[in-house]
Amino acid sequence: MHKLAVFGNPIEHSLSPKIHAIFAQQTGVYIEYSKQLAPIGDFKQVAQDFIKQGGTGFNITVPFKIQAFEIADELTKNAQAAGAVNTIKVQGAKLIGENTDGIGLMRDLSANLGVSLQGKTLLIIGAGGAARGIILPLLEQNPKRLMIANRTASKAISLANEFAKYGKTCGFGLEKIKPSPVDIIINASSAALNNEMPNIPDETANGAICYDLMYGKTTKFMQWAQANNAIKVVDGLGMLVEQAAASFEFWTGKRPMTMAVIKELAK
Ligand code: NDP
Repeated sequence: MHKLAVFGNPIEHSLSPKIHAIFAQQTGVYIEYSKQLAPIGDFKQVAQDFIKQGGTGFNITVPFKIQAFEIADELTKNAQAAGAVNTIKVQGAKLIGENTDGIGLMRDLSANLGVSLQGKTLLIIGAGGAARGIILPLLEQNPKRLMIANRTASKAISLANEFAKYGKTCGFGLEKIKPSPVDIIINASSAALNNEMPNIPDETANGAICYDLMYGKTTKFMQWAQANNAIKVVDGLGMLVEQAAASFEFWTGKRPMTMAVIKELAK
């Protein structure tokens, strides 16, 4: 039996218990997966209590991904590069930290949407935790170049410098975006949480695939992309399900089927 959970604050909205229950049914693996509200400042204690009670693994969401990184004894390459952990596996006395957000985005783009990144020009909007988690898996697909544009330019520049050893990156402020052809725009900003739209020139969307990491609503970014001739406009539901599938596999060794779950949640 795998005793699993997701820790966050807030956590009530989380779809993870539902997604993992479907994966367990599909694969015949017996799991118990609960939502756990961790008080701000008390994540480490709550996680340790869960492990003492027999917890074998857990997901971590906002705002605890960096603290989860800190409590891990070993880190996967993705977690190391991201500087954040969204999945922990309890292995004997050790906590193994992984970050499946980027793998989730990659699988949604490649397996579900049939989008290849090789030789493409990518533009990421935002330089926060979500952007950090997706950059390495994107660079591993050999894009022509990966640009990071952020409202606060300095954060985009330092993120681009940090990842330059993995591929061709550059970082700048949103105001410096040139409307030259971009193949794929990934909105990794949290603008949609306040029903806002990052300040991007309209021409940038023309002929591009526009992917918003946000899910559960049609965002202003998605409306903007549609109105400015994007060739495909996608929300982050597929990424959510795919990152959950990668976590499930990390814990159980079993790979669930994701498409049926994405369709079910999109209803
Ligand atoms: P962070 O708080 O770490 O970063 C937020 C980023 O958004 C910053 O770069 C910030 O810029 C930028 N931003 C916020 N508001 C605006 C605005 N009005 N205009 C332009 N830029 C803005 O958040 P995360 O990186 O953790 O999360 C980002 C999004 O990704 C969230 O919506 C989250 O729900 C989603 N997400 C989806 C996942 C999925 O599975 N689908 C997984 C993980 C995240 P600045 O630096 O200037 O403040």
